Amino acid sequence: MLRTLSTALALVCPLAAADLILHNGRIVTADARFTIAEAISIEKGRIVQVGSNAAVLKDRTASTQVVDLKGRMVLPGLIDAHVHALGAGLSEFKRKLPPLNSIADIQTFIRERARTTPAGEWIVVPRTLPPRLKEQRFPTKTDLDVVTTHPVAFDGSYVWGANTMALKLSGITRDTPNPPGGEVVKGPDGEPNGILRNAAKLLKGVPRETAYSDEEKAEALETMLTIYAAAGLTGIGDRAVTEEDVAVYRRLHAAKRLPVRSVLTWRIDASRDVEAVVREIRERPWTTNQGDDWLKFGSFKVTLDGGQSVGTAYQRMPYGEYGRHLYGQTNPDARGTLFVEPKKLTAIFSAARAKGWQLTSHVQGGAAIDILLDVFEALDKEKPIRETRSHVMHGSFMSAEAVERMKRMGVIADVQAGWLHLDVPALEKVFGYRTMRYFFPLQSYVKAGIVMAGGSDHMIGHDKDKAVNPFNPFFNMWMAITRRTTEGKVIYPEEKINREQALRMYTNGAAYLQFNEKKAGSLEPGKYADLVMIDRDFLTCPEEEIRAIQPLATMVEGKLRYGKW
Ligand SMILES: [Zn+2]
Repeated sequence: MLRTLSTALALVCPLAAADLILHNGRIVTADARFTIAEAISIEKGRIVQVGSNAAVLKDRTASTQVVDLKGRMVLPGLIDAHVHALGAGLSEFKRKLPPLNSIADIQTFIRERARTTPAGEWIVVPRTLPPRLKEQRFPTKTDLDVVTTHPVAFDGSYVWGANTMALKLSGITRDTPNPPGGEVVKGPDGEPNGILRNAAKLLKGVPRETAYSDEEKAEALETMLTIYAAAGLTGIGDRAVTEEDVAVYRRLHAAKRLPVRSVLTWRIDASRDVEAVVREIRERPWTTNQGDDWLKFGSFKVTLDGGQSVGTAYQRMPYGEYGRHLYGQTNPDARGTLFVEPKKLTAIFSAARAKGWQLTSHVQGGAAIDILLDVFEALDKEKPIRETRSHVMHGSFMSAEAVERMKRMGVIADVQAGWLHLDVPALEKVFGYRTMRYFFPLQSYVKAGIVMAGGSDHMIGHDKDKAVNPFNPFFNMWMAITRRTTEGKVIYPEEKINREQALRMYTNGAAYLQFNEKKAGSLEPGKYADLVMIDRDFLTCPEEEIRAIQPLATMVEGKLRYGKW
């Protein structure tokens, strides 16, 4: 009885004091009713009240900092559910990367690096995706032979390029057998043309990330996460961590150097035999939600297919003639690569679920999506998977049927709306416009009640708008709202979502995917004070301005991590 009374009293007249009050603003709560409030009060990193100026100012005491927002907008802290923060942090840790938008840019980059790199040492062109190059084709050894003094490797993710010297140093010749699932692509003369499809491991001696010390890695990660905070992000999901990466995150966390909340996806090497994979799952003391509200484990990931940007995503239909031009493919009937057979994936996922993991697979091609959903269905029959909050990662080439199956099982969508902008012009040439009908079908997800988590898949570069992939959340939300490509064309406008829905994707949706929706993802009493103040009105500014919105201040748990009021 006493307890009921005090709870009731607290509801009627919140006696709480606040250490910070923001008032005279437009506070977008992103709560269930999408309430817009005037003011918010915060105490010890948590939200006390959200409401009218008059009501919230009652929490003021002598020591309260009171900030007049002068009509400015505050959003819940944005959450990018899909980044690769450590790799991205290291990509520009030692020196800045120039934008690589054409083969000419790449050649300039190689020539410049050659001037400062001792002859005979490797030059690696950082991850660049052919559909985003002006020429829309994969560079060959001829393109990379602008220097003959250095071996050159071009990182196209699942497909790599090599110059003549790199091929020679690695002993790759016309007689080199193709590795399992990979190809040493040959030119018309029967010689390797420098394109190595799923065969980068044939390159001998390419320098990898291991050249960095633990503290350098920690600094690179801290720098990247600080840049994320400046972009308006208060939480991220790092989507492919190894044991070493976990150690870097833990190092920062232990030193209280994490500027944003981080949820880690463990990606296992599933290329080994199934017993070894299952043993590792059982032996590692990790599982979903282990950790705290700053650093914890999220999902368990198996990479199921390659990438749409390099012609290795496993599709329902062949890449055809244009695939030859764009990706340097030799077989027009090629449909891409499936890395893990369905039976093996079922066994791996079964073991991971038994350990308490949330499950996901990188799937871009439609055939890979269908296989992942088959495996989810097999698990769902044993025991419904809804509560595991398992998800389709990317799921670029969706279908109406796949959306229906996701709905039925309660599977979440981890979406990268920005890819519509950057990749559709080239992909449309490969597959035709009609095949793009279910390319990130955001409105279909909304109608089906499927939770969407927004994300960028940021991998390389520190500039939020020029990175691969751009991690500016306002760019990605703008794209979900407009579906306008780099060429200005709108791709299936019926799949547009509105501003509220786009914001929910980057707040409620991402928080839900991370099992954080009771603590973050909206501005409501009791939740963490994770928020961002922006320079214009997200809900009413002209549509073209959405992508240009700039954060002015980002707060995580009541502490400013970027900017000022
Ligand atoms: Zn990714």
